[in-house]
This record gives sequence, structure tokens and C-alpha cells, in this order.
Amino acid sequence: MKAFLLQRPGPLATGPIVFSNVPRPEPGAGQVLLKVLACGVCRSNLHMVEGDWLPSTPSFTPIIPGHEVVGRIEALGTSVTGLAVGDRVGVQPLFSTCGRCAYCHSGREELCQTKEITGETVNGGYAEYMVADALFVYNVPEALSDVEAAPLFCPGITGYAAVKKAQIDAADRVGIFGIGGVGHMALQFAALTGASTVAVTSSARHRALAQELGAGQVIDSSQSDPVEELRREGALDAALVFAPSEDVVNAALRALKPGGRLIVGVNSSIRLFPFALEKTIVGSLLGTRAMMERVLSIAASGRLHVSAEAMPLAAAAEALQVLKDRSVRGRLVLVP
Ligand SMILES: [Zn+2]
Ligand SMILES: [Zn+2]
Repeated sequence: MKAFLLQRPGPLATGPIVFSNVPRPEPGAGQVLLKVLACGVCRSNLHMVEGDWLPSTPSFTPIIPGHEVVGRIEALGTSVTGLAVGDRVGVQPLFSTCGRCAYCHSGREELCQTKEITGETVNGGYAEYMVADALFVYNVPEALSDVEAAPLFCPGITGYAAVKKAQIDAADRVGIFGIGGVGHMALQFAALTGASTVAVTSSARHRALAQELGAGQVIDSSQSDPVEELRREGALDAALVFAPSEDVVNAALRALKPGGRLIVGVNSSIRLFPFALEKTIVGSLLGTRAMMERVLSIAASGRLHVSAEAMPLAAAAEALQVLKDRSVRGRLVLVP
């Protein structure tokens, strides 16, 4: 089969990923073989490919990246129940967990310390076929196309998990900082709680998207001090940050009311933390299987708009370059 292999992480210009012919994988016990129908291109794929992360990511090379996948089941491994050949399913970054540890037993399986991550510790979806753990695939509702469903499996679950952790309700004023793949989903999930929303972004493209998605207020962070502008209308009960900038994380923290909640979806350091204001800072990355099911049912009900654009699988390297060069309006999704 055709697949993109990350040979050795390095700058895109040096050609770290190569379109290659590799053997089609065989599903092991408890696994399914998927014919990939769509796979989203994530900024974290770009970081892994360029070697911005710890030497342990990916855990081996050559590896096939890609962790937001929709596919059709082509074959079942042994001891798989409840799934059939022909089912259309999705795979999220959480590829599998141990099922036995305290995290797995307490509804926080995304923190399992022996979990596998799709496209980072096992092969992912930049390929014509991939295998997945049968206990970690999700039926894709009929109402969703392959291309619009794929981004639900990373930006969708990531945005949803952040909103859940923010414990938002209808009385809250919530700021979403960074309106890219994850932010545009989080903005909608936050609005669905009934809260009033404020989108903060330096990108004109993303401000237009936030307007279309019905953000209560849109703030251009490239022009003004967003904290001043936010405070003029009233400080925030919760702030969700997906923009990869330490300045933005610290601005979001300052824009909170005393007792407010900051949900951080990027790496950052916190410069000043006045403890007497009793604010809460929570990190958020992955989401559980139960959250994934909620995301799919919200999307199937038509209350979530997914901004996505298809590109051929063979153009994966170009797609990563596009992501590197400019802010993409919606998600780029590879289609074999
Ligand atoms: Zn992702
Ligand atoms: Zn576990």
C-alpha cells in the first residue's frame, strides 16, 4: 500500500516524510483493519515531523503519522465483537489504554501511562490502510461525510474536552484564544452550553470564521491589548487557550475574574500567578472514549460546523507546508 513514512524528524525542507510503498498491515487479536477514507492534518503532526518534540516522539521510525482518521472496516482480527466488515468508523489520538490502571478505572483513561497514541507510538492514518484497536473505534454517523467527520477525531475531541474541563454554564463569559482547528470547535461547544463567547485571535481569517460561527464578540489581538478590551466588557469566567504563545496564555490568565478557570491546550510557562485571586489553571490535551461519543452525536445533530478542505493523500508533505506557512481557515484532510 501507499503511505507516508516519517524517516527521521527534521525541517520540512529536508524531506523528512516520504511517500512510500509499504506492506499492508495485518490486524492482530482485538484489532480491525481499516481502509482509510480521510485523515486530518494536525499541527502536532507538523511538530513531530520537524522534530520539535522530545526525542521519544515518535517512539520509533520509520512511522506513519496521522491521528484523526475515518475508515471502513476491511477485516477483523480474532476476538473482535460488535463490529463488522464494511462499518465506517473513526480513530482518535487515544489509540488504546491498559484498561487496568487507576486512570483507566476512574474515567480519566486519557492519562493512562501505558496508552498508545495513534501516529506517534503506533502507525497512523497517512496511508491507504491502518490497523486500530477494536475497543477504540467509533461508528461515524451517516449524516457526516468522511472529510467533515475526520477533524472531529482530534480538534473535535480536544475542543470538547477543554470545554468540559472548564465547567462552563449559561451564566459564564468564556474567552477562546486561538481559533484554528481546535479553537473553532471549542468556540462552538462553549456556545452550546449557553455561555456568552469571546473569540480572541490575531488572524483575520480566523476572526471571519469566528463571526460566522456566531461568537458573541471577536477581538483582534494583533491590534490592541486583548486584556484591556476584554475587561472593558467584563472579565472572563473561563478562558481556553489554543494559540501556541506564552504571551497569550499569560494574557488569558490576567483576563480572568478572581476565581476564574484557565484551560491551557499548549505548552507554556506562567509568569505571574497572584494566588490570592484563587484562579485555577488546568492543562488539557486528550479526551476519553465517552467524550468522543458525545462529540459525534453533537455533530450528527447538525449543531457543529466543521470547516474542512480535502487534499489528496499524495500531497501530505505539501499540506504540512501549508500549515507551516499560514493560518489555514479550516482543517486540511487527506483523502487517499
Ligand atoms: Zn491532532
Ligand atoms: Zn491504564
